[in-house]
Amino acid sequence: MHFDYTARFTQALADLHSDGRYREFREIVRKAEAFPAAVWNSPDGPRDITVWCSNDYLGMSRHPAVIATLAETAQHCGVGAGGTRNLSGTSGPMVALERELAKLHNTDAALVFSSGYVANQTTLATLGILLPDCVFLSDANNHNSIIEGLKRAGGEKRIFRHNDVAHLRALLQEVPAGRPCVIVFESVYSMDGDIAPLAEICDLAEEFGAFTYLDEVHAVGLYGARGGGVAERDGVEQRIDLIQGTLGKAFGTVGGYIAGKANLIDAVRSYAPGFVFTTALPPPLCAAAAESVRIASEATALRCTLHENVARTRAALLAKNLPVMPAASHIVPVHVGDAFRCRALSDRLITQHGIYIQPVNYPTVARGQERLRITPSPGHTEAHIAALTDALCEVWSSVT
Ligand code: PLP
Repeated sequence: MHFDYTARFTQALADLHSDGRYREFREIVRKAEAFPAAVWNSPDGPRDITVWCSNDYLGMSRHPAVIATLAETAQHCGVGAGGTRNLSGTSGPMVALERELAKLHNTDAALVFSSGYVANQTTLATLGILLPDCVFLSDANNHNSIIEGLKRAGGEKRIFRHNDVAHLRALLQEVPAGRPCVIVFESVYSMDGDIAPLAEICDLAEEFGAFTYLDEVHAVGLYGARGGGVAERDGVEQRIDLIQGTLGKAFGTVGGYIAGKANLIDAVRSYAPGFVFTTALPPPLCAAAAESVRIASEATALRCTLHENVARTRAALLAKNLPVMPAASHIVPVHVGDAFRCRALSDRLITQHGIYIQPVNYPTVARGQERLRITPSPGHTEAHIAALTDALCEVWSSVT
């Protein structure tokens, strides 16, 4: 008798349904002209909604200059890159983008990947190749792309308690002197919205001769005078060996990157399978991303408006005693603690109030930590915040 593949897949999906974890995607069409407004193609037809859960944190995806650059470059160069970087994919716009990213982070060089996920996964795996017998010390709350990268990196992995520098010190003390050691951490943790003690981690790295690998995916564009991230804000940019970032969130496009010293970037460029064996990002996309990085690095007012809106949203929800979790960043998580209720709250928000916030359930967060993750933007107005607050109060009392 042959294996019953269909039965296995059906059972796997049934398991998710019974756990309240089956993911339903809502089809939305964003309105570039009216960010953060969108249309939801609901089962009953199109509905106007307000988006409150986008990682297009600054609304750069609809910036007129970014759109124009994308369209003009496509007219000139066509759409696709035509090959891997090695074969034919190293375009002028790609080289200009990498130069722009190196400038943003005050590093020698940068290297672009298909996504932030790929950047983490393949760079960490490559560090494992480049640093034989390496010990990787990884924060307990690191993103899945880091976990997957570390799986491929080989070497030894130790997990330090989230943002716990005392625990990190204890683990560093156990690494024999002279053995390569990489500390892998994030600046803004995207689900809790808390921020790592970068300077303290750099102090430890210097004391023990460790290499620092910092994921700034949820911080680039948003923190620091030029949007270089928390490392720029905290004045530790020059103390971080490798900064990893994305073009898909505050820069409103798609792609990921690393930035650092010239020989590090060159070594990853030469050895990383997820860089070498895949088609390069399209030139129009690279040009649009470079334009977005340039604009965002000077967009101090936009950053201020974002952070003001975050403070307003947080204060409005707290004033109504909603269970807003403490967070020192632009992310406003509201604790729910149950997968079914989380989905029901999200459903009612969109159907009754036209407010779009996807539920965050296991495995994105631990069981019992289910939440609504709210991301205010510079485009949200006082009226949007008032409507969100009223809607949350209503759904909180009606969905039990
Ligand atoms: N790193 C972190 C901390 C993330 O949260 C994410 C995605 O959300 C990534 C990396 C992957 O970035 P990208 O969405 O560009 O693939």
